[in-house]
Amino acid sequence: MRIVSTIFAVHLLVPSAVVPPKAIQTNMQGPRVIIAGATRVRAIVTGDGSEVYSSSFDLQVVLRRFVDDMQRPVLSFDSFNFIQNAIESSQGSTGKLSLRLLQAGTSVVINPTPTGDDIQASLRLSGHYDLIDRIVGYAGTGLQDADDYDSPSEEFTGTLRGRLVLPRIPGRPGGSLDLHQGELSLVGNGVLGAVRKISFQLHAPTTDLAPSPCSDGTMPLRRTLAVQPVYVRADPTDSTADQESYFATELAKANDLWGRCCIQFEAGSPAYLDRPTLQVITADPDPAATSAEETDLFDEFVDDDAVEIFVIESFLPETAHGGGASWGGGKATARIITGVNNLPGYQRHLAHLLGHILSLCHPLTGCSPPRSDASAGTIMGLSNFANDHPDTQSASNCLSAANPLLRYRFATCCPTPDDPKVAAALRDCWDVGISQKRSEREDQPE
Ligand SMILES: [Zn+2]
Repeated sequence: MRIVSTIFAVHLLVPSAVVPPKAIQTNMQGPRVIIAGATRVRAIVTGDGSEVYSSSFDLQVVLRRFVDDMQRPVLSFDSFNFIQNAIESSQGSTGKLSLRLLQAGTSVVINPTPTGDDIQASLRLSGHYDLIDRIVGYAGTGLQDADDYDSPSEEFTGTLRGRLVLPRIPGRPGGSLDLHQGELSLVGNGVLGAVRKISFQLHAPTTDLAPSPCSDGTMPLRRTLAVQPVYVRADPTDSTADQESYFATELAKANDLWGRCCIQFEAGSPAYLDRPTLQVITADPDPAATSAEETDLFDEFVDDDAVEIFVIESFLPETAHGGGASWGGGKATARIITGVNNLPGYQRHLAHLLGHILSLCHPLTGCSPPRSDASAGTIMGLSNFANDHPDTQSASNCLSAANPLLRYRFATCCPTPDDPKVAAALRDCWDVGISQKRSEREDQPE
């Protein structure tokens, strides 16, 4: 809905949903990991003119609270995954706008009181929306393999004021994060600058887990990323059995590799696209370019809440992109095209491409935030068509993995990358307190 009156917008800023924090005594002494989430939160959005729009967003944040050597409480943002509905800017519909932290561990100014913490935070965020893909397009970053096509992002600053209340007993209900003043502002002119400012207030219930984060700063959390397989076929009578079998094999390998980082890919029900001319996709002769047929395929199917994985028969030529590629790595709009002709020799192909989706570039690419170079000698190393990537994961890959669509939840998972030294350090994250909570916290069997 577009709001034509700024005065009306001011009225909308008076929240009806913000509930005062509960006046309970909070046990703030031990270290805590806190997840706060809210959906369909109302926001006032300033567009690229002076227009003001009403919109809504979903947000999930992960916070850590602990006491430093001087016995001062410290609070940091480890994740801020924000997805806002589209607005009609003067350049067209933005598509969903997503934001995520540029740097995890952003500290917060905190003023503890008997009933909770007054907080004030300044965040640096990476922002992106679909209109950027459509107007600016993609550029190749991993051109050694021609399989990683990046889309430019915009930087936002987040200014937050509010209050964090934790339940007296860790893990019990009653915690909340209230943001009385939230403002997310574009830095400079951005790429398109279609969204200038987002203002909101929110009340988010929290879940928290004591006592400690893992020794290297990672947390006893599982992250999930929704993926949407899309099988391209000639018509409804055309069997996709080979494509579905291919996808299942590749997804299992991806969940093995990224499961070592406590990241899991959850596939939605299959989608089918009846486009005989797109079963074999002609790649652009320029390895840095995205071809017309690839763009056509992206336009045929969009899922705002998941990473689309288009499963085709093959590229033309067969070796183009080394058998498949990712577009928009690290963004909520990211997508993959992959050919079933990668099997049987290339089983970790999808695991590699999903690493790009998690914002990782090839090792030694020189990527800068919001993307990160991956570790050499791991699944993110280069391969050739039908030659597989290394069956190895690293702590650095685990820590750098990011996408606004990632969702966090407490689970009995400790990262186990393949470097023995860091693996041993990461396993320390399971201490007695957390072990005791396994039975009541476990989301799914290990
Ligand atoms: Zn690659």
